[in-house]
Amino acid sequence: MAFLIDGKKISSEIKEELREKVARMKAEGIEITLAVIQVGQDPASSVYVGNKKKACEYVGIRSLSYGLEENVTQEELLSLIDELNGREDVNGILVQLPLPAHISEESVLERISPLKDVDAFHPVNVGALCIGKPGFVSCTPAGVIELLKRSGIEIEGKECVVVGRSNIVGKPMALLLLRENGTVTIAHSRTRNLQEVTKRADILVVAVGKPKMITREYVKEGAVVIDVGIHRTPGSKKLYGDVDFEDVEPVCSAITPVPGGVGPMTIAMLMHNCVESVELQKRQVV
Ligand code: NDP
Repeated sequence: MAFLIDGKKISSEIKEELREKVARMKAEGIEITLAVIQVGQDPASSVYVGNKKKACEYVGIRSLSYGLEENVTQEELLSLIDELNGREDVNGILVQLPLPAHISEESVLERISPLKDVDAFHPVNVGALCIGKPGFVSCTPAGVIELLKRSGIEIEGKECVVVGRSNIVGKPMALLLLRENGTVTIAHSRTRNLQEVTKRADILVVAVGKPKMITREYVKEGAVVIDVGIHRTPGSKKLYGDVDFEDVEPVCSAITPVPGGVGPMTIAMLMHNCVESVELQKRQVV
């Protein structure tokens, strides 16, 4: 039976460590503030925003909420970001995605000061990761690295295959595995003989956005399998990943479940970035 990598437990440990650190910072007179902007009232976004606010409360981070109407103009949203960029009492700015079609996500994300970009989507932070400079690291891939490290899984020297090359997950994931001295391959929709590529992996990270696509035919015996995917069946509360868990679990050495694997790590790493922001802002390094 494969070792179950417990994202719920590890994310709780991280939040607990952060809570203690934030309490120590408060005692020194340092308060951390995250500004969360939501445009419209998409139910899924409201759940994500609610969970982020709850996590802030638990860790001891002050959160400011900005709920904007669905028909807000891009200029209005950008001027709110400018205002928050200029406020000394705001450490992190987060704009919940997706945005309505009339607003350019790229323009909005690039307007956030790289020093307050706790989601790490700004090109300056992506570039910093690429060349090994200090900066914010995208939360979900950073969470995967924490899962591996805290489960005692060594990355150095391992064959790592990332399936998916999105800017939010796949690419930063590959860069982080490289930073940890893994030998990294990125696979995507144009990869030929995908099974041959994924079967080379000692560590296989799957972020394809296709429910249960990865079956045991894609997995080397004894590999570690990390499933980033999240899919909800319409009309049901059940969640699925990109990996067919029941099929793959018997052949791998360790695996993340869905739910309870990578999912809870994203918010824990967002909290980590909020705490980190104080140091980055002090040193003005991004
Ligand atoms: P995207 O749709 O942006 O990217 C999917 C990637 O998978 C693309 O690079 C695409 O290739 C590749 N791909 C698609 N089909 C295939 C295929 N048949 N074979 C090989 N590669 C394929 O998704 P995201 O990266 O945003 O998200 C991936 C998954 O992770 C989703 O299920 C999402 O819900 C989940 N997610 C979970 C998070 C969490 O907190 N746990 C956070 C963010 C995402 P190409 O580039 O060629 O099109």
